Order: sequence, then structure tokens, then C-alpha cells
Amino acid sequence: MKPVIGITSDYNGGDRPEFGGKIPTCFLRDRYVHAIEATGGIPVILPPLESPSKSARSILDRIDGLLLTGSGPDIDPKVYGERRRFRFKTVDPKRFSLERELVRHALKREMPILGICGGMQMLNVAAGGSLYQDIKGQIPKSMQHQRGGKPAHLIEVKKGTLLSKILKGNRLRVNSAHHQGVKQVAPGYIVNAEAPDGVIEGIEAVGYPFVLGVQWHPEFLNADDQSATLFKAFLKMAARHGKNGLRR
Ligand code: MN
Repeated sequence: MKPVIGITSDYNGGDRPEFGGKIPTCFLRDRYVHAIEATGGIPVILPPLESPSKSARSILDRIDGLLLTGSGPDIDPKVYGERRRFRFKTVDPKRFSLERELVRHALKREMPILGICGGMQMLNVAAGGSLYQDIKGQIPKSMQHQRGGKPAHLIEVKKGTLLSKILKGNRLRVNSAHHQGVKQVAPGYIVNAEAPDGVIEGIEAVGYPFVLGVQWHPEFLNADDQSATLFKAFLKMAARHGKNGLRR
């Protein structure tokens, strides 16, 4: 049985007219869907809801793994107790609240979670961590991390982490399309990958089978960063989770 993966959708609540104009619109870059299908899973898109707290558990009952996607807008800094210090759009509250509910309940049932870019930041913030609101503005001597979907910079994978067990070797060239990053790592999480300038490129929850976030975009399926290997590891754990009857 192929594992069913719930993928959180992006959302235009009216302030992102490039995706559906002024009409509220759920949307998702196809590369996330493609990556899951191409590596052996069944993708299901999870749109923001009016009452996520009532629905999150029912959704999780029907999927084997949760994929938190990236986004143009950033998480509202209020969530981690800061004022917005730079100019950026914030994630629509509807999307944010669904993701937070899903993460909370998925963790309770030890469901595999993969957080990509903003999805990794969501994992960190949901567990009480904080973010750099703007890497360039807040980390002197940081390198350029807004370089699109092509392989852009090296990372070092930390020994002994779940990520290091999945990937071959401890140095990868990954793409980089982010201006924010993890600042304070949330309690219960550790750093599993770092860029040469010290920017955190991956985190994972300690003691869980697979709760992992990466700052790069493996859904582009670039060969350099062993993206397919990462997705296959996620899908394997999701399949196991479903089979063990842990989805309830
Ligand atoms: Mn980067």
C-alpha cells in the first residue's frame, strides 16, 4: 500500500492577487505533489479550513504522513513574541491555524512529518522556537540564501542525526530560496544541518520516528541534494505508520 501524504496548501485570502485575483483561492505548487507521487506516495492536498480545531484529527485519521510546504509569506512574528521588524507579508491566519493544529495532533500520534522551508519554520515555531525575520538584516556576514531552486550552497549534515542516517555523506549542495531561518531552536528539537555561514538548514524532533524539517526545497528533486532519497525515507516511515494502525 502506498502511503497517503497530506500536503498543506498555500492560500490567497485576498492579499496575494497573483494567485486567483481577489477571490479567496487555495493553491499549491505542483512540484510538491509531483515529488510525493514520483517517489512512491499518494498526495492529498489539505486546504485551510474555517474550523481547523474540529477537523485536524479527522484529517490525520485518513493520512499516513504530513508534508508542511513552504510559502511566499512568512509566519507572523507575533507567534514567537516579536514585532515585525522588516517588510514582508505574513501567512494567512487560516492557513497558519490549520497547520498548527495538524502539527500538534500529528506529534501526539508520532505521525511522520516533513517540513520544507516555511514548513520547517512552522515546526520550530509551533514548538516554541523563534526565527530570524531577515537573514541579511540580522546576521552580518551571512551569505545569499535567496537563490531559487537550483543547487546554491553547501550544507554540513550533523553526525548522529536522523538526517545523517538517511543521506549519504555529510556535505550536500542544496538549493536556497529563503530570507528567514531558525533562530532559537525549539525545545525538543536539534539542528541536523547547517550552512557554512552558520544558518540552520535543518532541524529534527528528538525521540520521534520522523519529524524533520529542511530549509532547502527537496521537492525540486535536484540530484545534488539526494532529494529523492529524503522523500523515500519519509514515505517509508509514513507507510510503516499507517500499517501499524497508528493513524487514529
Ligand atoms: Mn540556504
